[in-house]
Amino acid sequence: MKIPTEPIGSIPRPTSLVAAITALSNGANLTDLYNEAISDTLKELEKTGSPVITDGEQTKSSFATYPLEGLTNLAPEGMVINFEDGHSRQLPLLTSGPFRYGNYAVKYLTAAQKQTKLPVKQAVISASALSLIYPQSGIEGYTQAEFMADLLDECEKDIRQCLQHGAYKVQMDFTEGRLSLKLDPSGGVLKHFIAVNNQVFDRFTKEEQQKLGVHVCPGGDHDSTHSADIDYADFLPDLFEMHVGNFYLQLASEPDRVKVLKIVKQYLKPDQKAFIGVIDVLDPVVESTEIVRDRVLEAAAYIPLNQLGTTDDCGFSPFCDDVSTTRETAFAKIKARVDGTRLAEERLFS
Ligand SMILES: [Zn+2]
Repeated sequence: MKIPTEPIGSIPRPTSLVAAITALSNGANLTDLYNEAISDTLKELEKTGSPVITDGEQTKSSFATYPLEGLTNLAPEGMVINFEDGHSRQLPLLTSGPFRYGNYAVKYLTAAQKQTKLPVKQAVISASALSLIYPQSGIEGYTQAEFMADLLDECEKDIRQCLQHGAYKVQMDFTEGRLSLKLDPSGGVLKHFIAVNNQVFDRFTKEEQQKLGVHVCPGGDHDSTHSADIDYADFLPDLFEMHVGNFYLQLASEPDRVKVLKIVKQYLKPDQKAFIGVIDVLDPVVESTEIVRDRVLEAAAYIPLNQLGTTDDCGFSPFCDDVSTTRETAFAKIKARVDGTRLAEERLFS
């Protein structure tokens, strides 16, 4: 396709799998349920016509916590992220060093690649998000500087393994970017987060950086957001300072898309691509192909065609127990994205 289109990552898990995970009653069955969920997800994604697919994050605990699975040096009382509808998610806190990932994303990538011939994209969590697990009171015998050095090494390893195993793209999820402006309106925390992640990206060559991307959104859990009230205009100029070639931007659910597109046009650098969200993942209504086409045409008025791509606003279920959207709806919305992007292409390249 002339206008590339890619998913973000997660697909709602099958209800039978969610029931088994949340009950934690029958561990023996989980492996089978996970394998079924992966193969069914890949099959359904292939049917949507999407030229690039993911494993739907069927076996991740969440987009943010997968590296922490199995670690024993964590306590449950970390940072709380509040969503508009009143629910919250909480990060754990590290209790001792050294910090090592319990689990690397390449595991998901290679499991998916075994079952599909299509290119597979892999999402990883940002170093900035995981930096929040170091306690403000410190850890005796393991300084914050030592922790950050370990974290950068681990985040690099997480990405590099995926590149080495042929990931089509490696996308860093950076949902805390926009949220940071809520916690620190001065933008100091945002600039710090970006600098931390750039320390990871700078370990890759310019060619490798073209395979790396960043996804941003106002959060999307149980069909609710954590930072939609923060103005995109305050966030985007800094975002394009990240040393990657691809930006996966929530946009369909923005109240004033043109205002956002004008800022993207102003700050997008020549070696960067903007993948515009044309599917509102929080809206249960499936977009028509014409609506998607019109959203692409709208974006094409501001973004050079050779730098324009489409995506969904976010993953459909970043946390494993989120079943607010059905799998059927998610696949139908992805098909609408692919078909609508094609329709727009016919207009733009005719
Ligand atoms: Zn997102």
